[in-house]
Amino acid sequence: MEYTFPVTRTTHPKPRPQDETKLGFAKYFTDHMFVMDYDEGQGWHDGRVVPHEPFLIEPACAVLHYSQCMFEGMKAYRNPQGGVQLFRPDMNIARMKRTNERMCIPELPGDIFLAAVKAVIQEDIDWVPSAPGTALYIRPFIFGDEVSFSVLPAKHYKFMIILSPTGSYYAANDGGLSTTRIYVQDEYIRAARGGTGFAKCGGNYGGGMRASLDAMKYNCKDVLWLDAAENKYVEEIGTSNAFFRIDDEVITAPLDSGTILPGITRNSVIQLLKRWGIKVSERKLSIDEIVEASKNGKLQEVFASGTAAVISPIGWLCVKGEDVPVGDTKVGPVAQKLYDNLYGMQTGTVEDYMGWIYKL
Ligand SMILES: *Cc1c(COP(=O)(O)O)cnc(C)c1O
Repeated sequence: MEYTFPVTRTTHPKPRPQDETKLGFAKYFTDHMFVMDYDEGQGWHDGRVVPHEPFLIEPACAVLHYSQCMFEGMKAYRNPQGGVQLFRPDMNIARMKRTNERMCIPELPGDIFLAAVKAVIQEDIDWVPSAPGTALYIRPFIFGDEVSFSVLPAKHYKFMIILSPTGSYYAANDGGLSTTRIYVQDEYIRAARGGTGFAKCGGNYGGGMRASLDAMKYNCKDVLWLDAAENKYVEEIGTSNAFFRIDDEVITAPLDSGTILPGITRNSVIQLLKRWGIKVSERKLSIDEIVEASKNGKLQEVFASGTAAVISPIGWLCVKGEDVPVGDTKVGPVAQKLYDNLYGMQTGTVEDYMGWIYKL
């Protein structure tokens, strides 16, 4: 089905940021946003593109108290021909369905989701930046906006999409990859079996901030979470998935515990490694095994994967206050190759040999 949505153009277009090398992350927002309502009995209705501006919310609105909400994160990239393209939007749709199901949020049909993304980007297409490392970050989200204090699924929801031109994650390093230090969290947990770890829902992140803040005290950029049951097996890093290359095998946590966010970049990394004939395993990996591998010189690479940075190489793990070096602490060859191929396909400088690009 084809969807078209009415557009109310802003009467006050904002000046676009002049220097694309200083965009930062979610510092600027475009002129328009997408809004759609859901009412019990009526379903999703009245999708529209409107000016991006603050809106009123009733203080007793359920989401402000009980966090019945979800979000997605994706990017639109400017290709060398000047066109704009998305990366695997079907995967965002599939993940949204799983999150909504877990959070008792009514299903939003994938074709409405995609039509809405297209409609709002179309309006702000000139905001898609083109400098190396930049993209238009797309943040779709849904929240229950019923006025109610009962701890039950809302009867009314809003689906919105906002857009932010974002800069290179590696801007400080001339766009090239560099390694960071990560704190291995052995006190707090992120997600337990049966919980909401696999869902992109607000509560997961509010609950993780304490640990991220503590990690920064150790001069670490983010947190590597361990499993909640045994505090032993590695799970993921902040808002990205974690990969460990030990003795020429690339290992990442399996999804079956339901405690790991199934990253689209994670899935893409696994597919590329398989294609290149690099051994990749989705299996439990204990922090002890990693520390041991570092001691024996077998810990070759650690990197995180996610939409924001694509691939972030890690040079040191901070385990109980002690630095565990990864390889020679420099960017490893597998991380670099993955970054070059993924980022190249996303921005259209490398041929889309996986069929992952969706041109707008
Ligand atoms: C979004 C997210 C990821 C990465 O997912 P991508 O689809 O690759 O961006 C990983 N972990 C968490 C906790 C996340 O929120």
